[in-house]
Amino acid sequence: MEPLYTEQQNMLRASVRQFAEAELAPYAAQVDEAEEFPARQFNGLAELGITGLTLDEEFGGNGGGYLDMMVAVEEAAAACGSTSTVLVTHVSLGAQTVNQKGDAEQKRRWIPDLAVGKRVAAFALTEPQTGSDALALATTATPDGDSLLLNGTKLFCTNGAVADVFVVFVTSDCSAGYRGINAVVVEKGEPGFTVNPQHGKMGMRGSATAELVFENCRAPRANLLGEPGTGYRTAMEILDSSRIMIAAQCTGLARGALEAAIAYAQQRESFGRAISSRQAIQFMMADMATELDAARLLTFRAASLYDAGMPHSAEAAMAKLYASEASGRIASKALQIHGGAGYFRPSAVERIYRDQRVTEIYEGTSEIQRIVISRSLLGASAD
Ligand SMILES: Cc1cc2nc3c(=O)[nH]c(=O)nc-3n(C[C@H](O)[C@H](O)[C@H](O)COP(=O)(O)OP(=O)(O)OC[C@H]3O[C@@H](n4cnc5c(N)ncnc54)[C@H](O)[C@@H]3O)c2cc1C
Repeated sequence: MEPLYTEQQNMLRASVRQFAEAELAPYAAQVDEAEEFPARQFNGLAELGITGLTLDEEFGGNGGGYLDMMVAVEEAAAACGSTSTVLVTHVSLGAQTVNQKGDAEQKRRWIPDLAVGKRVAAFALTEPQTGSDALALATTATPDGDSLLLNGTKLFCTNGAVADVFVVFVTSDCSAGYRGINAVVVEKGEPGFTVNPQHGKMGMRGSATAELVFENCRAPRANLLGEPGTGYRTAMEILDSSRIMIAAQCTGLARGALEAAIAYAQQRESFGRAISSRQAIQFMMADMATELDAARLLTFRAASLYDAGMPHSAEAAMAKLYASEASGRIASKALQIHGGAGYFRPSAVERIYRDQRVTEIYEGTSEIQRIVISRSLLGASAD
């Protein structure tokens, strides 16, 4: 029982935990080793209603909030990092952009299948020449009758290799800055749209990353999300909220590492005693638990603000910054407590140590989070 949460959220936690322990954790090493997209695991989360947890009820979602989603994401991440990345990208980036910015017709078209996990969503902002500086994106969308002709390349697109529905950020005019940027939905299999899987990631290896190439790819103008010229704002708003879910993912990864460290320290003996009886080990665990709680509380605050419809940009950046860096320290200490055994596969802490690293990079690097936080303190004078 966690007193921060409602009874309903505690029940949600219990059901996702039961599923994650039975269906995610036992396969996490295999997903990692084989770079295997966790399709069965994703479908299981869909059956629990998690793939549509925060999507509108009117269109087949569950109408939940980000506090609900943070509970589910922590549980998934504690069992399998890759599955949690697939889940967060599907719900909080791809589907959520359609849910928030789509008109009724667009939502009717895409949300029902995304909510039940029948189709997988992806979010394509990053390009070969630009990641942190989204204003510099160069994938163009040229109007042509009722269509847009897309040309350009997107990189590092999570779920990209398997996704059906892609939210793609494009510019109609590279010289127009943010006013030229739009979000457009492109469906898998459109002529001129090529998906090239990207292999060899350090961690989150089951998350089906891909390069997307658009060569005169035709998308109906009716697939534009939101008013023309609002795509940059859309990207920033969606990232602001999805970062809360990356913070939740980090609490899950860190909890998985701490639990593994406690179990190992209680059974591993040195000099005739369990290493858990040594104060050096106990103090590491005390620091890990404290940092984990601080990360969860920052995440809880950001999710609460989001659910209340209040400004949350700086708080989401703080949660993501702190939780990602703290999960790195926690994973490192967990590996230290395992000694040599923690350095080899298929040790869970070895995998968590690698999975965690990207949380300091994707959805805005730690440096970008610090810029967001500084701007909230200093306003325009921070630039
Ligand atoms: C596994 C993985 C999955 C991903 N999934 C997706 C996805 O689904 N969709 C998507 O669109 N993108 C995705 N990304 C891309 C990710 O969001 C970018 O990699 C990230 O935003 C950083 O961009 P970059 O790699 O171009 O680095 P750069 O922007 O080139 O930055 C390089 C370094 O410079 C620093 N830096 C840049 N600007 C500044 C500044 N003004 N001040 C201080 N330091 C600065 C950065 O912090 C970083 O340390 C993914 C990346 C990875 C690795």
